[in-house]
Amino acid sequence: MTERVREGFTRLYGTVPEGVWAAPGRVNLIGEYTDFNEGFVMPLALPHTAVAAVSRRSDGVLRLHSADIEGPVVELRVDALNPLTDTSWAAYPAGVVWALRQAGHAITGADLHLSSTVPTGAGLSSSAALEVVTALALNDLYDLGLTRPELARLAQRAENDFVGVPCGVMDQTASACCVDGHALHLDCRDLSIRQVPFDLAARGLALLVVDTRVKHALGDGAYAERRAGCEEGARRLGVSHLRDVPYEDLDAALARLSDERVRRYVRHVVSDDHRVQRVIDLLDVGEVRAIGPVLTEGHASLRDDLRISCPELDLVVDTANASGALGARMTGGGFGGSAVVLAEASATDTITKAIEEAFTAAGFTAPRVFPAIPSAGARRLS
Ligand code: ADP
Ligand code: MG
Repeated sequence: MTERVREGFTRLYGTVPEGVWAAPGRVNLIGEYTDFNEGFVMPLALPHTAVAAVSRRSDGVLRLHSADIEGPVVELRVDALNPLTDTSWAAYPAGVVWALRQAGHAITGADLHLSSTVPTGAGLSSSAALEVVTALALNDLYDLGLTRPELARLAQRAENDFVGVPCGVMDQTASACCVDGHALHLDCRDLSIRQVPFDLAARGLALLVVDTRVKHALGDGAYAERRAGCEEGARRLGVSHLRDVPYEDLDAALARLSDERVRRYVRHVVSDDHRVQRVIDLLDVGEVRAIGPVLTEGHASLRDDLRISCPELDLVVDTANASGALGARMTGGGFGGSAVVLAEASATDTITKAIEEAFTAAGFTAPRVFPAIPSAGARRLS
């Protein structure tokens, strides 16, 4: 991949790139809809990466090209980047240049050519991979000295304010900060991070990602509705965010809420924050198999309390668990996208086959299944 992207750059721009960088997609192990409640999430980086060959320019020109998209080189001027005007893929890397310049960094141009193995639209954050690979390349080339968390926040700013997608900082933080063989515990209040050991292969385990390849229209607007419901819950409980409701006080808090819908949302968020803590406690003492039931509990909470699952995701979880998985849950925003399945490595073929057969029997589109090997965050390749 490194060589292919390097050669692609040379063919396009007629010079050798100054360097090649990679940034991964991610999958969230546990902690869903907790980020905007200032709670906890626990993503891991995937082996799938966006790889970019990049060189500096001094003439204010920004040239962008993706090997994965039909179309010519996109040529822009760094001093004429306008938020929310570009609806093409180029808005992601251009947004990073914009965010860096907004933060006072003198980026005077760049040539960039990239290719990515992160599936798009499967909830695995191909967009964050694009942003973070651009941010890391420019940080190195322009010697900006920004830390990984700082690069993640700038990449988030690019997606929020330049592209116009109101995402949290989890995806970019995972892509920028993850470490091989670990999951990343991110506190969405103070943005502190901790690497939690999660070496599946060493323990004979595997985590499968099952991309259902569906996206239900029901999801449109559901995120905003859940978010508003959580904010209402916090208001009624007299806390700034649901993060501030201790798990020990959950029953008492629920008893104070008259609205059944708000009660369900509060129960999900407070219990999912607690599940993140339980998973960390188990991983810290090497009890990796024991997190399986916690994942499945998390799925039930997303299905029954937050109500963001769908028949395809439920079928993955139920089939996986019925055919020997240690646990499974939907991951990401819901109404489609992907699920994760924890299993003995020796059982993954059987489980994969069972899921594929169940999808065929139900008349669903064939899912895409691959192992989520906890991988390294963004890095320079050459
Ligand atoms: P996700 O981040 O969950 O994969 P998004 O909708 O946030 O989905 O981001 C997908 C978008 O990112 C694509 O529509 C495209 O604009 C951009 N993108 C992702 N991968 C590539 C790529 N390899 N080349 C060009 N653009 C890409
Ligand atoms: Mg995205």
